[in-house]
Amino acid sequence: METNGVNNGSEKARHGLSFEFFPPRQPEGEKLFWNTLETLLPYRPDFVSITCGAGGSRQSGSGELVRHVQERTGLHTVAHLTCVGASRADLTEMLRFYQGCGIPSILALRGDSPRDDPAALERGAFRHAEPFVAFIREYFPEFRLGIAAYPEGHPETPDKALDELHFRRKVEAGADFAVTQFFFENEVYDRFVASCRDKGVHVPIFPGIMPVTDFKQIKRLSELCGSVLPEWLTSRYEAIRDDPEAMLRTGVEIAVAQCRDLLLRGAPGLHFFTLNQSLAVPKILEALAGEFYAG
Ligand SMILES: Cc1cc2nc3c(=O)[nH]c(=O)nc-3n(C[C@H](O)[C@H](O)[C@H](O)COP(=O)(O)OP(=O)(O)OC[C@H]3O[C@@H](n4cnc5c(N)ncnc54)[C@H](O)[C@@H]3O)c2cc1C
Repeated sequence: METNGVNNGSEKARHGLSFEFFPPRQPEGEKLFWNTLETLLPYRPDFVSITCGAGGSRQSGSGELVRHVQERTGLHTVAHLTCVGASRADLTEMLRFYQGCGIPSILALRGDSPRDDPAALERGAFRHAEPFVAFIREYFPEFRLGIAAYPEGHPETPDKALDELHFRRKVEAGADFAVTQFFFENEVYDRFVASCRDKGVHVPIFPGIMPVTDFKQIKRLSELCGSVLPEWLTSRYEAIRDDPEAMLRTGVEIAVAQCRDLLLRGAPGLHFFTLNQSLAVPKILEALAGEFYAG
């Protein structure tokens, strides 16, 4: 992965491109996962990332999947790894596993306590991602390290400025790049990046893009992640919420406009939350094809 977000493998420098997947739980989901990955391969992502049990659940399933994806596709595969509830020994074991299978990058996260184990955060070796990043940097210096960023502020934070300070500390602890939570107002991303740059943060901050093709699902996710659904977006979906085709069309149209604007504003690349679905992202990338290459 090029940390400056530019893929030098093409004739013209290209903006960074990455896709995020989650480990499927059911056999049908597995088929969908691999089909989606195959569909997206021709777009030559700089990396694909695999989440680990969102909500703090067990990570073992994602470990095997990460290994499998890298072996089967040869893609630069980024393993998400949460430290919530985990001891240093647990985390060392996972990191050794990834080291042993040649996984080059880790997205180091705190994660959240699972609903059925609200005290998990208190039990783990690290209360925040920052010391976890420092730990990986010290004991596994060969990994490229990514971290999460929240242009709208992390949902738990009482103060956006404080949250940004915590983000900067994670970078100082040794992160090489960051990926943001999804958002729909590009000014928010711009302000966050500008403020970080002013304070000496120079790692690439890849905007996370969430195509809204199922409004109910994204509304639920937004509530969990603290991403704001602006009024203009909500009202566009009101009339079409029972029409999947119209939602797909609208989701693609909105994402294309957002991505185009982000690239014009100087975003180093685009990180798509695929939700293991193959319909929207190829359409978005086809629409952007002409603009995806930096001059
Ligand atoms: C791109 C992306 C990918 C993700 N992938 C996954 C995944 O695979 N699996 C999963 O379970 N979750 C994932 N998440 C969600 C993430 O785990 C949650 O948002 C979690 O609540 C915070 O993780 P973090 O690493 O950002 O934590 P932190 O950086 O530790 O921040 C968490 C909160 O603690 C505060 N904080 C940080 N340091 C301090 C300090 N020293 N003192 C006081 N407060 C502090 C921050 O301001 C923030 O409010 C992802 C999020 C993003 C944006």
